[in-house]
Amino acid sequence: GSEKVIKTLNNQIKQHDLQNKVTVYKTGCFGFCKMGPILLVHPGQIFYCLVHEKDAEEIVSEHFSKGNIVERLLYKEPIENKIYPQLKDIPFFQAQQRIALRNCGLIDPEEIEEYIANDGYFALQNVLHNLTPPGVIEIMAQSGLRGRGGGGFPVGRKWSFTAQAEDSPKYVVCNADEGDPGAFMDRSILEGDPHSVLEAMTIAGYSTGASQGVIYVRAEYPIAIKRLELAIKQAHQMGLLGENIFDSDFSFSIELRLGAGAFVCGEETALLKSAMGQRGEPRPRPPFPAVCGFRNKPTLINNVETYANVPIILRKGAAWYASLGTEKSKGTKVFSIAGKINNTGLIEVPMGTTLRTIIYDIGGGIPGGKKFKAVQTGGPSGGVIPAQLLDTTIDYESLSKIGSMMGSGGLIVMDETDCMVDIAKFYLGFSQDESCGKCTPCRVGTKRMLEIMERITQGKGEMADLDELEELARDIQETSLCGLGQHAPNPVLSTLHYFRDEYLAHVQDKR
Ligand code: SF4
Repeated sequence: GSEKVIKTLNNQIKQHDLQNKVTVYKTGCFGFCKMGPILLVHPGQIFYCLVHEKDAEEIVSEHFSKGNIVERLLYKEPIENKIYPQLKDIPFFQAQQRIALRNCGLIDPEEIEEYIANDGYFALQNVLHNLTPPGVIEIMAQSGLRGRGGGGFPVGRKWSFTAQAEDSPKYVVCNADEGDPGAFMDRSILEGDPHSVLEAMTIAGYSTGASQGVIYVRAEYPIAIKRLELAIKQAHQMGLLGENIFDSDFSFSIELRLGAGAFVCGEETALLKSAMGQRGEPRPRPPFPAVCGFRNKPTLINNVETYANVPIILRKGAAWYASLGTEKSKGTKVFSIAGKINNTGLIEVPMGTTLRTIIYDIGGGIPGGKKFKAVQTGGPSGGVIPAQLLDTTIDYESLSKIGSMMGSGGLIVMDETDCMVDIAKFYLGFSQDESCGKCTPCRVGTKRMLEIMERITQGKGEMADLDELEELARDIQETSLCGLGQHAPNPVLSTLHYFRDEYLAHVQDKR
């Protein structure tokens, strides 16, 4: 509804003859999805939420004309009903530290000048004029940034592999094929701050010796695609992409490739094949993309959120970034929080923040006063985390220790009314559906597991089914070709571990 609100605001501003006093800017997402459409009024950071067309009229006639704040549109905290007039005081934003999301909700993503006015392209200029490619890679290594797509591989090392590859030409690829159910981190960055990704890819091109970039983005993200196309055009017009960028001898251009929405194309070798117009199926590694990637040439692949961190790290320094987070997981992480939670939305917190802080302080707790039961991290490849582990910190090491994973950052919250066997069946069904079918353990094994899960949830399961589920799960994990198959059994294994009583209830009570 935001477009309609903007239109009404502009009409009303005209009617009240306020054109010289008030200007309406369109921004990307603020992250507080539950409260959208959001209108932030400067000066004062007055935060209006759930704004409809009719509200826009009142905001103009009362606030803009007379200076009276429209109280009924201010944010009201769901549990204590406390009213917060200003964005800076709202608990949802207070516990966050926005680095990758630094410009989302702040600038108009369709105006390159707004990105530049917020220090955009300064890192690129400095890199091209003052740093050598190994110097940039060293900064990335020292920062401790790890790939945010799920694997958590150190970015500096990844960049150095492509830089050291001898073949040419080389390519820089952005994985924008976000496909987990309930995940929308990359989408929001592309829609709210596309230039941060373009700037980072150009820096990555300089550092690795590539002159061509490719963004593989899913066709289901039409706004992201539109803004990326516009951003690429604007960057070319300003000489920030193309020949001799910033009067250096470095040239770089970026093109888009649209994916048709296959989850497996988030796997890097499948993505590269799909980007080349072939069937999107993973292949064995080695050779790794750093040696043999796009068009069989050395290729660097990082995801959207990883790139979004790069320009600010180069501006503020590796030591600044490395001072955030935990010993092994540096910086911040963006999460989408969805499911049974009051404040659904997109957040960014330092690594090492506890799940309790995310769910209660930022997420505002569980709706309807219900009890928290579990949270699924890592999407269909991750696992559930039960209430007794709510004080687990969010970082790569802590999550894998308890049988889950960071994944790309989707968090789905479940309450006391959710059946964990149903949840596991849903995720397994998703992976089974998205299996590319290339290798037998994943193609057939997930199908057999799903049949057992269906039997159990229909009250037709036997005790032996639980053992068979576990045996099949281990076989699939150990023998599947790519991450999709290797992680597909995780939701079943983790629910069997933490919520076995619910499986037993289905089997023993035949329900
Ligand atoms: Fe395809 Fe699954 Fe094998 Fe991956 S594990 S290659 S998705 S069949």
